[in-house]
Amino acid sequence: MKTIFRSFIISGLISMLFVGFSACEKNPPKEDDITYASILNVSDDGTSSLIDANLKSGIVETGPLTDSELAALQSLKEEEKLARDVYMMLYEKWGSPVFLNISGAETNHLNAVNYLLSYYGEADTLIGAVGAFVNPAFTELYNELLETGYESLESAFRTGALIEEMDIKDIRELYEVVTNENIIMVFDNLERGSRNHLRAFNRQLTSLGVSYEPRYISLSDFYSIVNSPNERGKQYRMNGNCLLNQ
Ligand code: ZN
Ligand code: ZN
Repeated sequence: MKTIFRSFIISGLISMLFVGFSACEKNPPKEDDITYASILNVSDDGTSSLIDANLKSGIVETGPLTDSELAALQSLKEEEKLARDVYMMLYEKWGSPVFLNISGAETNHLNAVNYLLSYYGEADTLIGAVGAFVNPAFTELYNELLETGYESLESAFRTGALIEEMDIKDIRELYEVVTNENIIMVFDNLERGSRNHLRAFNRQLTSLGVSYEPRYISLSDFYSIVNSPNERGKQYRMNGNCLLNQ
């Protein structure tokens, strides 16, 4: 009786192992097993970060990156770093928690772009020192933004709004050269994050009695963003890491 019981358990374990393997590698998961989740976490103050585990689980199999997709990721990596570095410095200067919270989110955005670069085999995923950029245009922009941001707290919030509307415009332009689903998933959520951050900086400006005028996006676009509530992310199918390359 004991032996029968033991062999029952062993055969059960073996078949569980088999099912575990085949669910990942061969058979599509049953409808009941499929879960959907957002990859974006939004705090009450609008600070928006990508959820690492969900991002990795939401990755789908694609072909290699095209040259323009690689260039789009490298450019966005610099832009996320620009936002992070400027907000870090503005937090040191002014001590306003909005800069601390949002610079933390920008570190997360930078890591998400870097994750995609390394997922597609890019060896260069180093993140340079604060204020150091590969593209000299970003170094120049960093210096200009800080110069303005150091003038007053109001100028610092204006600088934050300016960076976020620039991100929105640039991400929209980068979409034009991208068909890779994983990049589109990340860009969509980073753009939502930038709109939430723009709302957050605009709230600070409004509380100082300032009405901000956008430079990179249209006035109607700006109003429709700041007059709507914080955005959550879309739902993506979670693959439970089965399709990951790592
Ligand atoms: Zn960002
Ligand atoms: Zn942002």
